[in-house]
Amino acid sequence: MPIAAAAVCPAMAEGDPVVLRDLWHRYANAAAGAWTLRGLNLSLAAGELVGLLGPSGCGKTTLLRLIAGFERPAQGTVAIHGREVAGEQRWLAPERRGIGMVFQDYALFPHLEAWGNVCFGLRPGADRSRAAWLLELLGLQGLERRYPHELSGGQRQRLALARALAPGNSVLLLDEPFSNLDVEVRLRLRSELPAVLAECGASALLVTHDPEEAMAICHRVAVLRDGHLDQCSTPQQLVQRPATAFVGRFVLQGNLLPAERQGDRLLTALGVFALEPPGNQPTAADNAEATELQLLLAPDGLDLQPRAEGHCRVLGREFLGHSWLYRVACGAFSVRLRLPLDQDHPAGLACELRIRPGQRALLYPGALPVRMVASA
Ligand code: ATP
Repeated sequence: MPIAAAAVCPAMAEGDPVVLRDLWHRYANAAAGAWTLRGLNLSLAAGELVGLLGPSGCGKTTLLRLIAGFERPAQGTVAIHGREVAGEQRWLAPERRGIGMVFQDYALFPHLEAWGNVCFGLRPGADRSRAAWLLELLGLQGLERRYPHELSGGQRQRLALARALAPGNSVLLLDEPFSNLDVEVRLRLRSELPAVLAECGASALLVTHDPEEAMAICHRVAVLRDGHLDQCSTPQQLVQRPATAFVGRFVLQGNLLPAERQGDRLLTALGVFALEPPGNQPTAADNAEATELQLLLAPDGLDLQPRAEGHCRVLGREFLGHSWLYRVACGAFSVRLRLPLDQDHPAGLACELRIRPGQRALLYPGALPVRMVASA
């Protein structure tokens, strides 16, 4: 069953902490028709952590700025907890939206101690006990008198998180908050984030470049491309059924093989596939006759056989620790293969590629399941 349309955040409820409807945005100095966002719909449910993935320049930060109120939509609405804060006739200033932000570069006040930073957004005379509780929750107790330059990168980012949550904000916008941290600190902080948000009852939108990071900690992952969402679903759904070929390639690092349809068979340079189950009607593919058909094949669905007269060639490989990731040129296209460590092949090696018998793949457009039935 094709899932592309239904995959875009179906459960959108009026009272959700964040509801974005039909958002269009274009920067004033951009060329006519150069929209950053084109009719984007997205919602965050209470307590939900949604990851926002997409290639560089696709509009991830712009979307956060629209929600926070630093940009205005050309069309569409932004609602926070059921209240419209941006729309045709409505505008609420950023400081009145009740949204916390955390940036890649921490954006702490260098002249204020940790305590001053975390209390910055609080009104004079307001109860400070939540600020103290947040410092403790984030493991910063005892560091209240330190200035930002006296803290480690991980501690600074924890402080930025505490500051964003201190005024009682229940919506957080996180713009690549872990990307300046070293691997160990990044992994620790990212694994703690869901518990911190849950403890505070906050919902968050997390911008990241890293599909693995998004899938590791987010309830849902939204994939932005050309100003709209290709898919927004749970990490499991994203892996099992990428809605578009782009999602399969960008998020899952899958291979896209050009395919030609002959009856219920799909011919590719590396093998013949059949729709599965055989009676499955490829309506989406039929409806898109002008669109190129492609099969999405996982990097571990292929084998490599060294052969002097082979018409494929090893371009290079990366060591993944537990396996190799090879790149192999095969005529006009190249594919990625994950192979065990004992498959030790040098760059330049002539070879043949073979799809594993019975290998499953997905046909696009339509995300239809197919199965390999014959070698090329
Ligand atoms: P990255 O992953 O590289 O941070 P992004 O997905 O966050 O990118 P944005 O920063 O939202 O992308 O930018 C989206 C597009 O809008 C880009 O083409 C960018 O050049 C353009 N853009 C961003 N800010 C402005 C601005 N102030 N004026 C004009 N164009 C802008």
